Amino acid sequence: MSFTLTMLSFMLSLITNLIMLTGFISVVYWLQERLDLQRDTNKTKTQTLEIGAITFFVLLLFGESWVNTYLGPNAFGLHWTFLNMIIVTMFLSVVKMPNVIIAFIQAIILFVYLFIYATTFAYILVPLSFIFVAELFTLHRKSHVIFARRWLTYPALALLAATVILLIYYTGTYKLDSLFWLRQLGALTSLSIAGVEYTRIMDGVRKKDLVTAEKASHDSLTNLKNMSTFENDLEHAYQQYVTSSTKYYLFEIDIDYFKNINDTYGHLAGNAILVSVAKSLTDLSNHLAADAYRLGGEEFGILVFCKTDDAVVSHQISEQILNNIRSLNVGPIDQNIHLTVSLGEGVPQRKHYSFQDVYEEADRNLYKAKRSGRNRAILSDALLS
Ligand code: GH3
Ligand code: MG
Ligand code: MG
Repeated sequence: MSFTLTMLSFMLSLITNLIMLTGFISVVYWLQERLDLQRDTNKTKTQTLEIGAITFFVLLLFGESWVNTYLGPNAFGLHWTFLNMIIVTMFLSVVKMPNVIIAFIQAIILFVYLFIYATTFAYILVPLSFIFVAELFTLHRKSHVIFARRWLTYPALALLAATVILLIYYTGTYKLDSLFWLRQLGALTSLSIAGVEYTRIMDGVRKKDLVTAEKASHDSLTNLKNMSTFENDLEHAYQQYVTSSTKYYLFEIDIDYFKNINDTYGHLAGNAILVSVAKSLTDLSNHLAADAYRLGGEEFGILVFCKTDDAVVSHQISEQILNNIRSLNVGPIDQNIHLTVSLGEGVPQRKHYSFQDVYEEADRNLYKAKRSGRNRAILSDALLS
């Protein structure tokens, strides 16, 4: 092949690979974005999909190179194209994926390939294999440190690349032209820079998206989940009740005579009290493995899942909520403030048609609590009968 043609073929395969690599990184980040926004119960599915996609991609690269080995004179295709892609993909997936399984998969695939492919055996392969495995697991364990600083990222990638290239090199013999190593180095450098820098950009985009999602789902004053998250969670809880009879208590909580506090001490003091109430409800929710929400103004919600609904338990929880607020320290504003809340409970029942019905029940009970003197809880009559 003439020099010009060799170089042209090299440039074309390099450009194709740059596009393929960045495209694949985009797919992984797209899956990652879905993972970020999902409920815990669905996370494993997407995580498996992500690991599957990476494994499929690496297997595809190895498979392609395998076929090319039979067609062309050099392993990994004419320009060792696939090996460079494999190295960069291996590095990025081990460093960026939180699951250690990806490091195992990468090691196994490479060893299986070497085992099938090897035409010669050199003793140096034994220490090289150990170094390779040690590198993969160090990359995984120290991933945050390594990816946070470029001066660590690139040498770590270069070290992994050198080990993998040596492993491949010592398992076979190649007919290489004089510029081979220059092209190999050029392609590996280009792909490494593109892969690492594009991943950094995607990390930045992901971080921004996470902040936006957090803002859209949480209340900015109290940092509790907001009404829109509450409705989603409530709908999900009701679906679980219908499909798998999962029970839950919904408590709707409203501060008593809050307008008086605002009128007497001002809105800033009112805000400080809302933050304290939110903190108290968050602490209790964490203790109960429940979720707390700010439903608007001085109104809050707590959603507690339970195996069986029980009047005694719901009575205990509601009393705990009332007592925690009563004993809240609002001394810095005024010792004389006796902060209390009223509470209404809803639990899903056969007579309910939708998640809104449970919310309506809690709301009705809250108003009963207000009308009958405030500073008290009215529980769902479903549990009392
Ligand atoms: P009740 O016992 O019947 O619940 O009486 P209330 O005064 O608590 O209820 P009302 O609905 O009359 O007043 C609620 C007040 O909450 C009015 C509104 O100014 C205040 N509020 C709503 N959101 C905020 C907020 O973000 N910050 C502050 N400081 N006040 C708020
Ligand atoms: Mg109120
Ligand atoms: Mg209110």
